[in-house]
Amino acid sequence: MVGSIVILTGAGVSAESGLGTFRDAGGLWTRYPLEDVATPEGYARDPGLVLEFYSARRENCRTAAPNAAHRALAELEAGWGGELLLVTQNIDDLHERAGSRRLLHMHGELMRCLCAACGHRWPSDAPMQEQDRCPACGAARVRPDVVWFGEYPYHMEEIWASLARADLFVSIGTSGNVYPAAGFVQDAARRGARTLELNLEPSEGVSDFDEARAGPASRLVPEWVAEMLGR
Ligand code: NAD
Repeated sequence: MVGSIVILTGAGVSAESGLGTFRDAGGLWTRYPLEDVATPEGYARDPGLVLEFYSARRENCRTAAPNAAHRALAELEAGWGGELLLVTQNIDDLHERAGSRRLLHMHGELMRCLCAACGHRWPSDAPMQEQDRCPACGAARVRPDVVWFGEYPYHMEEIWASLARADLFVSIGTSGNVYPAAGFVQDAARRGARTLELNLEPSEGVSDFDEARAGPASRLVPEWVAEMLGR
């Protein structure tokens, strides 16, 4: 059946590309407390630390490559006859580097800057420093264009509209701990969509899904895409 698909991805889809998830022991995210590097208050307290953290993440991201899961999702988009929207919580650019185009970054993009003074946004993969100036207003208030805890995610109207039309909602590599993304499965199910989870292990919200498959994304996603494309 050709229908409308909404896919949500999380850190687990990029784990096998070498970008750590929140939970990876000893990973970047565990060495820097979240409230210091992923909140507006942390940025206000110590912008230098925040910029150092995201500059290191840019460096990791530049040297990482998309894996079989990212590539399979791009193949699905190219081969699917119906509507398809990929919503990612990831701030890395591995989906677009694999070829996905119908893609929304609900938590922003690591390879973009945002001026905390005037709101101007621009692409940049360079290390960020406190003295960097906004190309529009000249203020030295540069931050990464990512959505921190306590901030409102991007593209929510478009995401909710797509969820309301979806015949199938698929959640890949996300722990289901961060709202509003964690509630998408209930939103989609309420509007009549079938729901599927693909995750390394069943997430805390697994009982909300009609079907769940456990395993690494680099195996589960290409298998599922092959089924969808009838291969
Ligand atoms: P999370 O770290 O809370 O959960 C990751 C999930 O992926 C876990 O359930 C884990 O079991 C699963 N997983 C780990 N390895 C996997 C694999 N190889 N295959 C399939 N599943 C695997 O991440 P989340 O749910 O995305 O948390 C949301 C927040 O994490 C977002 O705000 C996001 O911005 C941020 N984050 C992003 C990145 C990135 O951009 N690459 C990395 C770390 C965290």
